Amino acid sequence: MEIKPLYIEGIDTTRPLVIAGPCSAESEEQMVNTAKLISSQGIKIFRAGIWKPRTKPGGFEGVGSAGLEWLSTVKRKTGMLVATEVANARHVEEAIRSGVDILWIGARTTANPFAVQEIAEAVGGTGLPVLVKNPVNPDIELWIGAAERLISCGTENLAFVHRGFGAYEKGLFRNQPQWHIPIELKRRLPSMTLLCDPSHIGGRQNLIYPISQQAMDLGFDGLMVETHINPSEALSDKEQQITPQLLERILKLIVIRDKSEPSEYLADLRREIDELDDRLLNLLSKRMSIAREIGKYKMENNMQVLQPIRYDRMVTSRIAQALGLELDEEFVKQILESIHEESVRQQFEIINKMGLSNKLN
Ligand code: PEP
Ligand code: MN
Repeated sequence: MEIKPLYIEGIDTTRPLVIAGPCSAESEEQMVNTAKLISSQGIKIFRAGIWKPRTKPGGFEGVGSAGLEWLSTVKRKTGMLVATEVANARHVEEAIRSGVDILWIGARTTANPFAVQEIAEAVGGTGLPVLVKNPVNPDIELWIGAAERLISCGTENLAFVHRGFGAYEKGLFRNQPQWHIPIELKRRLPSMTLLCDPSHIGGRQNLIYPISQQAMDLGFDGLMVETHINPSEALSDKEQQITPQLLERILKLIVIRDKSEPSEYLADLRREIDELDDRLLNLLSKRMSIAREIGKYKMENNMQVLQPIRYDRMVTSRIAQALGLELDEEFVKQILESIHEESVRQQFEIINKMGLSNKLN
């Protein structure tokens, strides 16, 4: 599958393509005042959620269809294009009827193939661009699957938005960035447009800048940033919304580094990395074949596969060695655990095969 870059008429997509606006539409005044300040910075796309999927009932669930009117006012008064979140076919129909220019599918909706299918069928053929946020759970196939549903219903003009992944443990981020997932997405779909939503990843105003910079350094094409005229009074996500003035400062601070072809020096370093990876893989392959040999021996001698004392000694001594090599302890522990897990799996595979052939003989 190939996904082409997002195309929006009249919009320059040089990095970073910026979409800004409040988490939620709250009043016409809030929308227009925010939009005017954003638009005066040259930002061309305004976002606002109207139908808000909330974790628990009873909170502010968005102003609903009334907000569509306010989006039209923003368009009329600023000339910006407007975007909103849709979670079902009725949302799509209403949004299209009132002239919304860009739709996005939220993280909770991307995780639901029935809802995505319904949306894909409702948008199909209208030519409206759709932004697909990653599902809340770190499942790249589900994310790509949502795009496939849109494409198969006739929406080829789409982009992906990385907004982080939910985790039970609350850490620094509201949603874990797990950058390797969008990086893998880019590897698989090199031409697609990939945006970052630092607001939902960080969950806090002071994380917007570093996350945005990191996204740009990783080659993301743009940013979707929640921006509110008065964040402390916001009806949703107040901790993470920033003022248009702060947005302007952040965008000025962000450095966009060159994406062009690597220099000879970089090419040399990459060759060295390729060579080292090649050696690592060969060593791993050799290690696994020895593990299988051990499995065979243990089976023939009726020994238990996992020998905890040996495993504990191995981990302790390797970590001591790693510290001397200036490797991070946690990193080495993770690698050792995963190598060991695979060794044990391979030993079991041998044992099962041998056990079966013994029984059959
Ligand atoms: C939003 O953009 O306001 C939103 C609800 O985002 P997400 O679907 O990423 O949680
Ligand atoms: Mn939000």
